[in-house]
Amino acid sequence: MKAYAGAVKLRSPEQNFGETTAIAGDYGPMLARMNAAARILCFSPHPDDTEFSAGGFLAKAAARGSYIGITVVSDGRKGSVEEVDEDRLVETRKREQDRAAKILGVNKLTWLGFRDSEIPEPRILRPRIMESIRSFKPDLVITLDPNLPYEAHLDHVYVGRAVMESVLLHSHPGIGPGTVTSKRPTLALAATSRPNVIVNIDTVFPKKIQSIQAHESQMDSSSYLLDTVREISALYGKRIGCRYAEPFIALTAEEMHMNIFPQFQPE
Ligand SMILES: [Zn+2]
Repeated sequence: MKAYAGAVKLRSPEQNFGETTAIAGDYGPMLARMNAAARILCFSPHPDDTEFSAGGFLAKAAARGSYIGITVVSDGRKGSVEEVDEDRLVETRKREQDRAAKILGVNKLTWLGFRDSEIPEPRILRPRIMESIRSFKPDLVITLDPNLPYEAHLDHVYVGRAVMESVLLHSHPGIGPGTVTSKRPTLALAATSRPNVIVNIDTVFPKKIQSIQAHESQMDSSSYLLDTVREISALYGKRIGCRYAEPFIALTAEEMHMNIFPQFQPE
């Protein structure tokens, strides 16, 4: 834990923004668009990823009355460093995900059922993602940032890439299954190292922690995971003058294709 906390400090939000002055309150040019979303769909490579990365934002959105879905792409069967009965672990993780969703106020849970650590590459996964988006009709889609430096878990990279391409190509009826009856949603990538939106989650932080704790099979006896969440949330909180915050990079379609201009700037 200590070593990890040190590493986090070296890559602080201040460095990402290139300045050290705290901004007061929620921050980001795309924040209004995220907050205005009436329907929000999240894609989670594994059960628990959404709670860790966006649980606070979702709890606030649920309180505002947004309709929220989480699509869990894999079954979580490899979520143990012990030899376990994987089918039983899948059932356990479904129950845990149900509880976590209820705590946050999520309305709809969907499972795509791919085997954990065997999520197929983006071009194979994309039709399932496009179908989900076209039937749910979200205003905002959230998934993990697949472009984290040195990210080695391909489940995270593949889901992120497939979701990005699905959002980009959403309005093309000739690409992917389903009928296009909704506008292309805004995309926000959570657990990012290059945020352009930082959300104050002070009032809902206990809920976020509870939703993570609902994934009991993923908690070890130490408080390592929760300490990490507190530390990272506090680093971003400091950036905007509150206790705890979550970082996102929210993108327009224009920013997701042939964008040769400097971007990800806070102004
Ligand atoms: Zn994961």
